[in-house]
Amino acid sequence: MEIKFNNTIVKLIRGDITHEKVDAIVNAANSSLMGGGGVDGAIHRAGGPSILEECKIIVAKQGRLPTGEAVITTGGNLPCKFVIHTVGPVWNGGEKNEPILLQNAYYNSLKIGALNKINSIAFPSISTGIYGYPIEKASIIALNTVKNFLENENHSYQEIRFIVFSEIDYLVYQKLFK
Ligand code: ADP
Repeated sequence: MEIKFNNTIVKLIRGDITHEKVDAIVNAANSSLMGGGGVDGAIHRAGGPSILEECKIIVAKQGRLPTGEAVITTGGNLPCKFVIHTVGPVWNGGEKNEPILLQNAYYNSLKIGALNKINSIAFPSISTGIYGYPIEKASIIALNTVKNFLENENHSYQEIRFIVFSEIDYLVYQKLFK
């Protein structure tokens, strides 16, 4: 399923993000950038050890990655050129600035991709796994942040993909796309 914002195609796909042939995939990392469970673990497993080596160098230089920020590494053995690592917020009931932090995670990922002049990017559903952010709320922020970015920022994006893992998540996003 796909929609268009200005001249950029925005696609909804059910699948495994590590298989996506795009310029960059986004990793829902944690602040340590040392890998973890969920999509983070899948990306490091499929991408090989070089991604973790690059993450270690980044952390040595700038410390842990604050929630809502993003950094970029190469894609290692993945079929993408880059992995953009961002940290979404842990859901704590919704009164702890979670919506702004989630928006920042999407926005800063798009921004660092644009700075690297990429044409295509794939997002997982940031924060809605282990971090517990309700997907009905998170998906609205995901789509709105992409829309606002495409309408207001200088960028080279031709295609933006949302990759969801489960049928239930797909249905939530599908409703929103419609
Ligand atoms: P977070 O800690 O930010 O919540 P998770 O990795 O636990 O991150 O979950 C984020 C989302 O990524 C969840 O919806 C989960 O089902 C999904 N996910 C897990 N593995 C993959 C994968 N290989 N490709 C795409 N999405 C994935």
